[in-house]
Amino acid sequence: MTLRDDARFSTICIHAGQAPDPSTGAIITPIYQTSTYVQDALGVHKGYEYARTQNPTRAALEANLAAIEGGRAAFAFASGMAATGAVMTLLQSGDHVVATDDLYGGTYRLFERVLRKYQLDFTYTDTSDLRQLERAIRPATRLVFLETPTNPMLRITDLTAACAIAHGHGVPVAVDNTFASPYVQRPLPLGADLVIHSTTKFLNGHSDSVGGVVVAVRDDHIDWLRFVQNAEGAIIGPMDAWLVLRGTKTLPVRMERHNANAMVLAEYLASHPKVAAVHYPGLPSHPQHELARRQMRGFGGLISFSVGSLERARTLLNGVRLMSLAESLGGVETLISHPATMTHASVPPERRRALGVTDDLVRVSVGIEDIDDLREDLDQALDRI
Ligand SMILES: *Cc1c(COP(=O)(O)O)cnc(C)c1O
Repeated sequence: MTLRDDARFSTICIHAGQAPDPSTGAIITPIYQTSTYVQDALGVHKGYEYARTQNPTRAALEANLAAIEGGRAAFAFASGMAATGAVMTLLQSGDHVVATDDLYGGTYRLFERVLRKYQLDFTYTDTSDLRQLERAIRPATRLVFLETPTNPMLRITDLTAACAIAHGHGVPVAVDNTFASPYVQRPLPLGADLVIHSTTKFLNGHSDSVGGVVVAVRDDHIDWLRFVQNAEGAIIGPMDAWLVLRGTKTLPVRMERHNANAMVLAEYLASHPKVAAVHYPGLPSHPQHELARRQMRGFGGLISFSVGSLERARTLLNGVRLMSLAESLGGVETLISHPATMTHASVPPERRRALGVTDDLVRVSVGIEDIDDLREDLDQALDRI
């Protein structure tokens, strides 16, 4: 198997980083469940010394994900939060970060509750408004941290324009690309310097692993991330690396179905009399629909919508039969959740309200089941309201 430099996306997903196993020819990279490697003689080894530092299953995943995102190197971590934590070690005390205001709740918690202790400063702003982004940058700003589409309001930041603004101030840009997946959008070719994923979500795609990855392009970032991955040691385990590798092989076909199913459900919800508002970038009513069409391939698998009150949301959430009431997203099965009390419970209530995360907001991570079954499930649950 030789992968040509001009291989296309689905081919890259299946083959990048996945040469047959050198010792047996196994087409699937084995799970190297080992803590150390026997050396041939003092100072003579095969490039593997200790499994925190190097593991062949992890290395295959990292090569695969670097190619999928169009980066130069990737580093896989124990979770998406560990990956974000590693990126933040590029900074030092006194540095300032501009971040998307509608960030993943765990990222906001890491910034506010942990990293502020180390004298890092954060400004949260609506980065979908480029003037607000530019105004938030200060002389001490050393990182712009973007999420697009955001969770759960599905707001879109223009990545090309935002990266140009940040770079104009000499500031690198990190993008948490978990919500879109690299099938839907690839921030690095648009100018971003770092891409972060919770591999727990679409990349693994089967709700059976927790992990994270950082993909980088700059030499200084690559050198530091390689160092800190080993120094802090929050590595992904070989079993999880293997599961994500299995997941990325089907990423394009899964994402096509996630995109298609979500589009149908968004249109259905938008026309339903009991639904007050639907947030989905694929709907022409979405304020950044045109930008989403340019920047994304399809509009992703996440929808949020409001139903008028907490009581009505509760009725709906307790009424679904096929959809599962659960946190997380990006798996083959459809999950329904209540951001205000689940994923965003760690965000203070005033902040939640300012972001639009109201108590009547419901989020759906649309899976790849038959669309008619999903629509019928929502239909019968909405009927109970
Ligand atoms: C889930 C998620 C994370 C955190 O990832 P974990 O693997 O749960 O640590 C970060 N960002 C986004 C957008 C997520 O959805």
